[in-house]
Amino acid sequence: MILLLPLYGLVLLVGPHHTRSWAAIDFGFGFLVVFGLGLLLDLGRLRRGAFARFRPGSVLAEYAAVTAACGAFGVGGGLHSGTMLLLTCMPFMTIPVVGNRAMIGLAWLGLVGALGVETGLLVGRGTAVETTLLFAGTSAIFAAMIHLVVRSTVRTIESNRSLAALAATSGTLREWPGDLLPMAGKLAEAMGVASYAVLTRRDPVEPVERVFGWPDLDWPPFPELGNLPRRALETGEAAGNGRLRAVPAQAGPVEVVVITPERSTLGIPVDANVTATVASLLAAMADRARLVAGLVDLANTDELTGVANRRRLFETLAGELARARRHHRPLSLAMIDLDHFKAFNDRHGHGAGDRRLRELGRQLRERTRAQDLPARYGGEEFAVVLPETDTEGALHLVDLIRIETGADRSHGEPLTFSAGVATWDGQETPEELLGRADAALYSAKDQGRNRVVGAEATAGTPGGPGSGGPGASPG
Ligand code: GH3
Ligand code: MG
Ligand code: MG
Repeated sequence: MILLLPLYGLVLLVGPHHTRSWAAIDFGFGFLVVFGLGLLLDLGRLRRGAFARFRPGSVLAEYAAVTAACGAFGVGGGLHSGTMLLLTCMPFMTIPVVGNRAMIGLAWLGLVGALGVETGLLVGRGTAVETTLLFAGTSAIFAAMIHLVVRSTVRTIESNRSLAALAATSGTLREWPGDLLPMAGKLAEAMGVASYAVLTRRDPVEPVERVFGWPDLDWPPFPELGNLPRRALETGEAAGNGRLRAVPAQAGPVEVVVITPERSTLGIPVDANVTATVASLLAAMADRARLVAGLVDLANTDELTGVANRRRLFETLAGELARARRHHRPLSLAMIDLDHFKAFNDRHGHGAGDRRLRELGRQLRERTRAQDLPARYGGEEFAVVLPETDTEGALHLVDLIRIETGADRSHGEPLTFSAGVATWDGQETPEELLGRADAALYSAKDQGRNRVVGAEATAGTPGGPGSGGPGASPG
């Protein structure tokens, strides 16, 4: 209505010279009121976020129907064609609501052209030019105002929705920043920018690291960034360099900086409050991911020896067996048990025993490859999962560790272990494989300890060694 009243004033100002009757002006104003109400209804729908029902085509059809109904009514009332042309203005006014700038421009040109021709035919050339210019100016202003209001309303709604989605994700995020990548576009929408970057620092002595950039991973180039992130982190406040702005946030020990252009895609300054909200959410997510990763690590690690615990052993074994099955690759499992460890404890105390266990854990971690998994099975028993390893390779590796362990005299007296090695036969379950390795371990104990024994082959074991592998004799 605020938009309509000055327009009506303008019509009143020039109307009497150019329009046949006051009835036509009032009729036109009636249209504007109907149209204005419709527009308000649609803006209300937009605000409530009823996007599903807000289809440009159906909105245009709605207005076209109203225009046609009013047109029929006008013709019935005896209005002439010049007035009828005004009716086409009504659907035009919906285009700024639903259309883009090109659509608005085209519709406006068409309308102004039609009005010029129509008034040129009806009245003198001078009057026609005057009327057309007046109409062109007012309709352009009107369209621009509607367009701006709608765009900013839609943008605010989009921004709020994206922020809400981001906040919802922050509660379930486990992988940083992996789990965030599907949200990257939404983040740009939330901040109203076409590009942004996220940087982090785990603590103040570490360098600032780039986490990701949108839409390009390396936006903005580092030279352009300069010391902006560091400045923002050190002052704890947003910092700008005329083109880019850095907004910092912190959660626990994790610091996050969000870089955006100073101005948004619409050319208006980026809302620093929204960027700060996004930065805070991201920092909370990164900190949460850090905590979760720490907890997962804790839940999977044996406290005393630092190798994997039973939970992780069975999880990994199942996963690696599935992989070996898929790729038809070998997999071996070793079971290790320290010899006469009870006696060692009795002689040197449990503290010394614990240190010895820790030492074996360190040795196993150092002597195995990244894809291998040494784990504490329980007590003084360890297991090692050896993917991509056949029986020969597994026996060789475990025997090397056995010799090294036996030679270590730093704990008072040398301590040896016995081990059994089994290679997966292509069918057996993790428990069956473990059972075979365990049986081989008992066979090593029976044969006098301090040796490594290959397990009995099953029918399916590839190149199984049978019993009694290259066990080493006690040193
Ligand atoms: P064998 O050669 O037949 O394996 O003899 P063993 O003495 O090693 O075997 P046994 O199963 O009789 O004893 C295992 C010992 O390991 C008993 C226990 O005191 C010790 N042990 C188990 N867990 C720990 C631990 O966490 N710390 C210490 N210090 N000792 C442990
Ligand atoms: Mg034991
Ligand atoms: Mg033992």
